[in-house]
Amino acid sequence: MIPPVRRLAAVSVLGVSVLGAVLAACGTAEAPRAARQASAQPSPARPSPAASRPPTLAPGPAGQAPVFAHAPRTGDKTVALTFDADMTADQGGRAAAGERFDNPELIAALRASKVPATVFMTGRWAEEYPVQARTIGRDPLFEVANHSYSHYAFTADCYGLPTVERDAMRADVERAYAAFRKAGVPDAMPYFRFPGGCYDGQALRAVRGAGVTAVQWDVVSGDAFATDADAVARQVLEGVKPGSVVVMHCTRSAAPVTERAVRAIVPELRRRGYRFVKVSELIGATGGHR
Ligand SMILES: [Zn+2]
Repeated sequence: MIPPVRRLAAVSVLGVSVLGAVLAACGTAEAPRAARQASAQPSPARPSPAASRPPTLAPGPAGQAPVFAHAPRTGDKTVALTFDADMTADQGGRAAAGERFDNPELIAALRASKVPATVFMTGRWAEEYPVQARTIGRDPLFEVANHSYSHYAFTADCYGLPTVERDAMRADVERAYAAFRKAGVPDAMPYFRFPGGCYDGQALRAVRGAGVTAVQWDVVSGDAFATDADAVARQVLEGVKPGSVVVMHCTRSAAPVTERAVRAIVPELRRRGYRFVKVSELIGATGGHR
């Protein structure tokens, strides 16, 4: 298999730009400025009659989707590992040529260690790997959340990703849910991670109609393009605080050392007294309503 760096050199100029963007997009760097500015404190919880619904946050200001980045620092030592299953709408040809955007060994390692996790999946990924999408979605250890259908950007300037038009943003989110249903994922969560973590007020308003809570992170693992699993593990272990959300990837070709990093991270955080939870539990602990 061609290493990612060499593969980069083998694709077109546009391909380089998009590939770099996709792989850099999900948390290799600090969240974009717009994201930081728009990051909102959770709104007060509101009771809901539907007891079985996943917890969500109350709407943000001006009709915007609420934004969640981490739980309150109450001292409760919980941490959510999140894995972005990235595949972009235009990467089908590369998958057909043998590039692997999945990471079944990572999922197996999480299962073996009984580590709950939230997988932010693109609709295109679920189309490419429907059996994996379904088994992840039907495993109570995991929850599937939405990372858009296309993995195109929801702001104009986001790591060089192609941009979703504003009036197509909600449809892109809903198309991902349709892809999950088609793959057999029964209960995808109403949580949405913007590709690249890039969003602004317009984007938050655009996706509000899809009923989602936007989910960011407070710990960047740096696993995209990483070759040193220990460095990724160190970065996570230095960053985690009670209530943290860690962003990592479930995409072998782009994040080849993630499984090894997780094998180091999990026992150490447990030794420090941390309990792994899904994003839904953190949002519930934040005062989200069910
Ligand atoms: Zn992504």
